[in-house]
Amino acid sequence: MDPRSNDRPGESAKPASATALALASNALFQLSFEASPEAMALTRMGNGEVVAVNREWEKLTGFDRSEVIGKPVQTLDFWPDERTRERSLSPLTELGRLADTDVKLRMRDGEVRLVRVNASLLRSEGEDYALTYLRDVTAEKLSAEAVRAGERVLEETNTKLNRQLRLYELTESVANVGYWVTYPGDSMVYMSRGYAEMAGFGDRNTAPLQEHMQGLLDEDRPMFESAIAALDGQTVEYRWRHPDGRVLWVRSRMHRYVEQGVLKAVMGVVQEVSAEKMALKAVGDQLAFIQRITSRAPGMLIEFQSWGTTRMELRFASAGSEELLGVGPQEFLSDSRHLFRRIDRDDVPRLVGEAMCAVRSGTNWQTEFLTRPVNGAARWLLINAVPELQGDGSILWCGAITDITAQKESQDRLKESETRFRSLTELSSDWYWEQDENFRFVRIDGDVERLQALLGQSHIGKTLWEVSNDGVSEEGWAAHRRQLAARAVFRDFEMQRKRGDGTTTWVSLHGTPIFDSEGHFKGYRGTGRDISERKQAESDIERLAFFDALTGLPNRRLLIDRLRQALEFSARHITHGALLFIDLDNFKMLNDTRGHATGDELLKQVANRLKGCVRSLDTVARLGGDEFVVMLEDIGEAPMEAAAQTEMVGKKIVAALNAEYELGDLRHHSSPSIGVTLFFQHLHTLDELLKRADLAMYQAKAAGRNTLRFFDPEMQAAAAARASLENDLRQALERREFVLHYQTVVDAQSRVVGVEALLRWVHPSRGMVSPAVFIPVAEQSGLIIALGQWVLEQACAQLVRWSTDSATERLTIAVNVSARQFRHADFCPQTLDLLRTSGANPYRLKLELTESLLLSDIEDAVQKMGELRSIGVGFALDDFGTGYSSLSYLKRLPLDQLKIDQSFVRDVLVDPNDAAIARTILNLAESLDLGVVAEGVETEGQFAFLLHSGCKSFQGYLFSRPVPLQALMLG
Ligand code: C2E
Ligand code: MG
Ligand code: MG
Repeated sequence: MDPRSNDRPGESAKPASATALALASNALFQLSFEASPEAMALTRMGNGEVVAVNREWEKLTGFDRSEVIGKPVQTLDFWPDERTRERSLSPLTELGRLADTDVKLRMRDGEVRLVRVNASLLRSEGEDYALTYLRDVTAEKLSAEAVRAGERVLEETNTKLNRQLRLYELTESVANVGYWVTYPGDSMVYMSRGYAEMAGFGDRNTAPLQEHMQGLLDEDRPMFESAIAALDGQTVEYRWRHPDGRVLWVRSRMHRYVEQGVLKAVMGVVQEVSAEKMALKAVGDQLAFIQRITSRAPGMLIEFQSWGTTRMELRFASAGSEELLGVGPQEFLSDSRHLFRRIDRDDVPRLVGEAMCAVRSGTNWQTEFLTRPVNGAARWLLINAVPELQGDGSILWCGAITDITAQKESQDRLKESETRFRSLTELSSDWYWEQDENFRFVRIDGDVERLQALLGQSHIGKTLWEVSNDGVSEEGWAAHRRQLAARAVFRDFEMQRKRGDGTTTWVSLHGTPIFDSEGHFKGYRGTGRDISERKQAESDIERLAFFDALTGLPNRRLLIDRLRQALEFSARHITHGALLFIDLDNFKMLNDTRGHATGDELLKQVANRLKGCVRSLDTVARLGGDEFVVMLEDIGEAPMEAAAQTEMVGKKIVAALNAEYELGDLRHHSSPSIGVTLFFQHLHTLDELLKRADLAMYQAKAAGRNTLRFFDPEMQAAAAARASLENDLRQALERREFVLHYQTVVDAQSRVVGVEALLRWVHPSRGMVSPAVFIPVAEQSGLIIALGQWVLEQACAQLVRWSTDSATERLTIAVNVSARQFRHADFCPQTLDLLRTSGANPYRLKLELTESLLLSDIEDAVQKMGELRSIGVGFALDDFGTGYSSLSYLKRLPLDQLKIDQSFVRDVLVDPNDAAIARTILNLAESLDLGVVAEGVETEGQFAFLLHSGCKSFQGYLFSRPVPLQALMLG
């Protein structure tokens, strides 16, 4: 026992209670207290005073008992703070004991240690003491914590490992990889999860060795076994039959692990590569497909890259290169010169130029070139490549090269055949044409100049009926169109073409329809031929058949034909026609003495003169020799009128043929003998008519030639009478057989306002001849000009005489002017001259014209009338109402008067029509501001009616007959 501790409890017990002292004095207690292996302290509960500590406590805390005994423990800085102490010791106060409470206490050296406190409450002499046991558990606690930390690390590591394992397994399954391991002397194979899954072992991670490689396909087994024998780390690929039936492709590497020369393990890392294999196979298949396709494609497919014009690299060439250039694709690819060597050196710049052009314009490079393969004939190739600009400025070309030799050859052949065809059509007089489905010309081939001359304007784009309508009747066109619609072959379709110069040509067309390979109609093609010559020949033949070769006049045949038609016309239109047989007098003599050529010449000239004597509707024919026939048509309903007209034409012919002929250097005179017969409807047959005319002609000959004879005796008589009258008429003027009678014209009050001069012929033997008889003859013979002039002279002289007498100075004289007279070019100047020389007052002169005269040339009439009217001459329209009486010319003519024809006046009281006409004329005249004279007024009744109707001038027997001047009653 440490004496100090003996002392100390005594010393420290000084203030302590007696119980405590008693206790302390308890030696056993003290011994055990002191010797206790545990640190112990006894403190007073009330103030915390340390009563006793043992040795262990001193060891533990580092305090010396002398330092602590008697001091409140609070002062020792032993507890971290008072609160911790109170809280830690609270169970002691409350329960009387404290068990295993770990608290941190600060030792004397300042170190804080974890101390496990156990305490019990002791009561002695009414005072509470705490007996505290302290054990340093710092180390214990630390090691426990270390263990726990270690456990935690282990746990974490485990988790991490597990996670890694799972990751690894996931990786294996994602990457389709795994491994197996075998150990020498071990009959099992250890498999990773990935491998087991892949190989179809499911959840197992081991398998017996002999079962392991059952999935390996037999075909791959030898290869696999040799690999496993070598175990040199080489990659092997083999097929694996999965239990689910799939055959997988796997790739494996096998290793052995050897430690210090002893084989420890064999390991295989396996990856499933089926997808990769399939993808590869697909690519391979595609490639094979491309190769197959390209090798079968005609020509070769090619891809190459070019840098500027100098460098070029081939990148792909299909198998066709062998066929095209005699170089396999591989060889070809290895050297682009294979291509260029085969192209004509001089042609290369052109090809390059065109390629550059394609690049610039962004179009395909398409060009033809000639190559000479290693062996074989030259070939024409066509390259067609698309340029594509690359990032580095180079051009990537993809395209094809095709052999166009055959095409070229067929083109050449086509060209040749086209040339042949052209020269054929050009040399031929025929031409070739093509039309589209709408029958428009799309092509015409032939001798260009000939075609131009023949067809004139271009036919291209036009149909046949648009370019020509001549020579084909409407039925002809309809038939042609029907043929076209039926797609029928047509031949000899003949039509006329008008040339630029107005002449016409005849063409004949053959055509055959064009159909395409599917049988669709595509148009027509055919040939054309100029058949103008043939047509000419045909018309020549016709002319020979119907026309006289020498004169070109219709021959007997055609004349008979026309005569037949003329008879038809005559029958239909109730009009006469006439045949004039003309024979040249003494023609035979000319022919015999001067030769046939001269005779022929005369005949030709006669033919021309005859044509000049007739209207276009009449026919001049030559029967042969010196015999001609003139046929007149539509010469009037009345036979005498027709006869007169025929006679007039006959005389014209006699005159025309009598004029002198120039036959080479011969001046010749000839005359005709003409026989005439009229025809009317079908009174006589053709033969009869011809015979009659012929007979009449012989009568003319018999009558002394150079004359005209009618077959009809009556007509002949009339003609003879006319002839003699004309003959007498010629002398009548000289013999002064003409006289003028005057008939008065009166007003409403019957006062004489003027007279009409009416010509009278006092024939020595015939007596008084009516103007109605001799005026027409005078007109036909032209004697009217002189006669009319004589009448005008007489009338003017009379006007001059009357002008001196106040009773007569106002009277007018009306003079009848015939058509031929008025038409004469000298009429105006002669009349003006007469008025001037005679001194007659023009205002007193009235000229009477007839409607027929005005109708023929109204412009000339208006002009002449205007000229005479300007000096005062008046104009009256005679016999008004018998002619055409057109309002339009009435308005235009500078007239002063109308004379109502006596035919209306005669029946004005008995025929309501005539009365109406008379009234109408009066109204018309009034509205046109013209005067009216009623002619032929014979009765008072007529006078009264006309007067009542508004007529202001009258003429007729009621007032005065035409009488000689001496008998004229002017009062
Ligand atoms: P016009 O000019 O119409 O003459 C009137 C005709 O009617 C005259 O016939 C006249 O005698 C006739 N006449 C007059 N009053 C009556 C009457 O009351 N009753 C009937 N029944 N007749 C009457 P004319 O003298 O025989 O003359 C016939 C035609 O001859 C004239 O018809 C005229 O056109 C023409 N003419 C007469 N003199 C000449 C002349 O100098 N030159 C021309 N170119 N022709 C003339
Ligand atoms: Mg008259
Ligand atoms: Mg009259």
